[in-house]
Amino acid sequence: MARVFIGVGSNQGDRLANLSRAVQRLGATAGIRVVQMATIYETRPVGGPPQEDFLNTVVEIDTSLPPRELLSAIQAVEVQLGRTPSREQWGPRAIDLDILLYDDRVVQEPDLVIPHALMHERRFVLEPLVQLAPDLVHPVLRKTVSALLND
Ligand code: ADP
Ligand code: MG
Repeated sequence: MARVFIGVGSNQGDRLANLSRAVQRLGATAGIRVVQMATIYETRPVGGPPQEDFLNTVVEIDTSLPPRELLSAIQAVEVQLGRTPSREQWGPRAIDLDILLYDDRVVQEPDLVIPHALMHERRFVLEPLVQLAPDLVHPVLRKTVSALLND
């Protein structure tokens, strides 16, 4: 079983319903068990066109799925929640699921980067993550989540 943290965000439609449906769908996926979820943060969008504010949180899961299968699983949940494949980068989205950390694994592939490339710069990731795992060490930066938040 791997201990994994998933970033969850929405800034389109019923944002709160989208977050909770996404977490429910994740937990209903074979090989994924939801362990805990942080509180929800409302944040201004970063980059992209003018758009609504985001709701963001982080969910901890236990999973037997290897990283690439987990990516497929979260993409399937995004599609189930009505996310359309073709859209502007950093544009509005009903749901965005990102693999933030996967145990202490480091993955560097064209379409899968773990730890998530921008997680250490984003307060809307670090704040909920610090609630769940303040002492977890980022395997590349070699700093705890709480140290990253206070940097
Ligand atoms: P973003 O989340 O950066 O705003 P998208 O959700 O549209 O953008 O993601 C685009 C691509 O990012 C996905 O097709 C996926 O292949 C890639 N990707 C790379 N690393 C990750 C990761 N750790 N978690 C989720 N997607 C990732
Ligand atoms: Mg994403």
